[in-house]
Amino acid sequence: MVDDVRDQARQELESLEKSKRLAYMLALACGVFIFLLSWVIKDPDDIFILFLYPVFALVLAGMLLMVWRSSYPLQSLEAVMFTVVAAFILGRLAWHFHFAGSVDEHLLMLAGGHYWSVGVLIVGGFVMLDHKKGLVAGTLVIILSLLIAATGMAGDVPSGQVSQQTLIYLLRVYLFLVLLLGLTAAATTLRDKYRDALIWTKSLQELASTDMLTGLANRRAAEEFLENQVYAARRYGRKVSVIMADVDFFKQVNDRYGHARGDTVLVELARLLRNSVRETDLVARWGGEEFVIIAPEISLQEAKELAERCRRKIAAGQVSGINLTMSFGATEFRERDSVDTVLSRADNLLYKAKSSGRNLIVVEC
Ligand code: GH3
Ligand code: MG
Ligand code: MG
Repeated sequence: MVDDVRDQARQELESLEKSKRLAYMLALACGVFIFLLSWVIKDPDDIFILFLYPVFALVLAGMLLMVWRSSYPLQSLEAVMFTVVAAFILGRLAWHFHFAGSVDEHLLMLAGGHYWSVGVLIVGGFVMLDHKKGLVAGTLVIILSLLIAATGMAGDVPSGQVSQQTLIYLLRVYLFLVLLLGLTAAATTLRDKYRDALIWTKSLQELASTDMLTGLANRRAAEEFLENQVYAARRYGRKVSVIMADVDFFKQVNDRYGHARGDTVLVELARLLRNSVRETDLVARWGGEEFVIIAPEISLQEAKELAERCRRKIAAGQVSGINLTMSFGATEFRERDSVDTVLSRADNLLYKAKSSGRNLIVVEC
């Protein structure tokens, strides 16, 4: 049962990773398209685009293939993708500040494309990495782009080749980028912490209501479930049956085969019982080698048939290679019953089954 939960979690994770890969492939395909389009509509003098954009498009297409086909863990690919895209964007920025002539003339390009890309890169870092790494990556991107801009203009500012308006504009851009970094960091930190708290709470709840050996509901969860069923039975006149079941001479199994083998038997028995009931029924480990089945909307006659089905299944085959039998006590909720009375009646019936010879079902409404 614990394995089932683990399998389910793994499947969910795999399907999530599949969707993530699909999203990255789409983004990379868009990147290839943008580089190729920019190459087609380029300014003929722009040798950066002329020679490097086809290379960038090829690299992105290669990464798309990697994301699509490779069995690398997505996490390591994410870091590589972020670094490569950051290198492209910062490279283009360096071109503008260092080689493309006067910054004033290129301001429109910087405003319309490159600083937007830096902004997208900062947000992308938080999407691809976690909030801590995203903050480090975003800060590095801002520092590097600022260094590129500052070193590129170092000679031009004192000689008055860069207008004051351009400097003010760039200052505003950097304020905006820092604000974007701060807001995205705050939002993703809150998101991650909230998600962690949710997972933690859910895990704790599951731990508190699960039997660690068999993965079945534990006694506490069974009592809670029965309380709800008893409430519905009282209020809406619904039926609910309770079956207590205990392995016969289980001590001998431990004595003969060892405690570990006894544990394996309990795990297999739990699976067998779980597979014998409906989805809406609850099978719980009541303690030791005793189980309880709570079956809503089931009459006493049906509960008897259910217990008989379980009894026969166990007695007919072997459980973990060992011949076993179980005894059962089955009862139905009565109008004046409390949770405790219905449970103790089922327990007394089980006791009767034991004293009447075991491998039996005793029923009383
Ligand atoms: P009866 O037919 O009267 O139920 O006989 P029994 O031997 O099954 O009953 P008893 O209550 O005397 O013994 C139950 C045994 O179940 C004793 C205990 O060691 C064993 N047991 C309880 N919990 C576990 C467990 O988690 N793992 C294993 N391996 N054994 C357990
Ligand atoms: Mg027993
Ligand atoms: Mg017992």
